[in-house]
Amino acid sequence: MTSLHADLTARRGEFALDVRFDVPAGSVLAVLGPNGSGKSTLLGCLAGLHLPDRGTITLRGRTLTSAPRVHVPPHARSVGLLAQDALLFPHLSVLDNVAFSPRARGASKAAAREVALRWLTEVDAVGLAGRRPGQLSGGQAQRVAVARALAGDPALLLLDEPLAALDVDAAPAVRGLLRRVLGAREPERATVLVTHDPLDALALADHVVVLARGRVVERGPTRQVLGAPRNPFTARIAGLNLVPGTATADGLRTRGGGHVSGLPAPDVVPGEPAVAVFAPGAVAVHPAGAPPKGSPRNTVGAVVGGLEPHGAVVRLRAVDGEDWAEGVTADLTPSAVAELGLEPGTPVRLAVKATAVAIHPAPSQ
Ligand code: ADP
Ligand code: MG
Repeated sequence: MTSLHADLTARRGEFALDVRFDVPAGSVLAVLGPNGSGKSTLLGCLAGLHLPDRGTITLRGRTLTSAPRVHVPPHARSVGLLAQDALLFPHLSVLDNVAFSPRARGASKAAAREVALRWLTEVDAVGLAGRRPGQLSGGQAQRVAVARALAGDPALLLLDEPLAALDVDAAPAVRGLLRRVLGAREPERATVLVTHDPLDALALADHVVVLARGRVVERGPTRQVLGAPRNPFTARIAGLNLVPGTATADGLRTRGGGHVSGLPAPDVVPGEPAVAVFAPGAVAVHPAGAPPKGSPRNTVGAVVGGLEPHGAVVRLRAVDGEDWAEGVTADLTPSAVAELGLEPGTPVRLAVKATAVAIHPAPSQ
């Protein structure tokens, strides 16, 4: 059953957000997109902080927004918002911060505190109940903010990059907590999670929408969208390489006139627009000019653009080169980077096995 329905246009200066989507009760929708694509504007409209220029938002059949006339204020929406910063009330204790929403919904002081204690236990912060927000670390404050967002038993839970402001030591505990509370799938609740981390989307969300410049460019079940992106924005977010072109019997003719061999999906039609998708881990880096050998490979001359740490590996981004090399990423071990003497400007040859390349139909736009 659809719980949240949104169909709206919201302008902010030159920028326009124009989206339509539904979130079924009991499910989590991830909103992915580059910086400035409108993710926070969207959550602001859902939370009641922004009035859209046009459109409607309904939650469990109740109209929250019908622009420009109906605009239910944030506190009356049954919406819980967890932002990047915890935004706790500085003058209230942790316990009273969490008790705030049940209290605002009419619970007695004692009952509200009981609910707050239950949620503080749930987020492993009951020992912090008597502190002021100023006495908490970033990770502790965010755990308390999770408890506060949930203590009001919201019909709609909104999370705006809840891990983005945390340092690397604090993020894993909050990520684990979110996986636990969102994984429980409160059957009546709709959740919208803004994230730029595809792994969080994969772990937490049933469906994703990808926003670019205020519009939905891709949508669908999380695994399907991130495993086989059809759009360059999605591929970039998913951390995958994507080369556009025209499908052939055994791969794809690139726009530069070259050919990438791969494994066509069953719905690929030769002659139609298609994309070749492959992971950075599937791209081997060789010295420039080295002849390819072994199983069938796609190779291309490239120039190293950037080298950045990416977990335990180094991610190389090609800036330039032949045909489809531009923008391709490859993961290497730090020792391979040293062995090959790689630095920005180094010419290299990239190789990808045909069996590591998936060919998918490109979206019809
Ligand atoms: P995201 O959360 O995806 O990074 P935002 O929703 O914050 O994106 O912003 C979308 C666009 O809206 C931005 O590119 C910017 O141009 C515009 N914008 C955001 N906030 C304001 C503001 N306060 N005033 C005018 N324009 C804004
Ligand atoms: Mg934002």
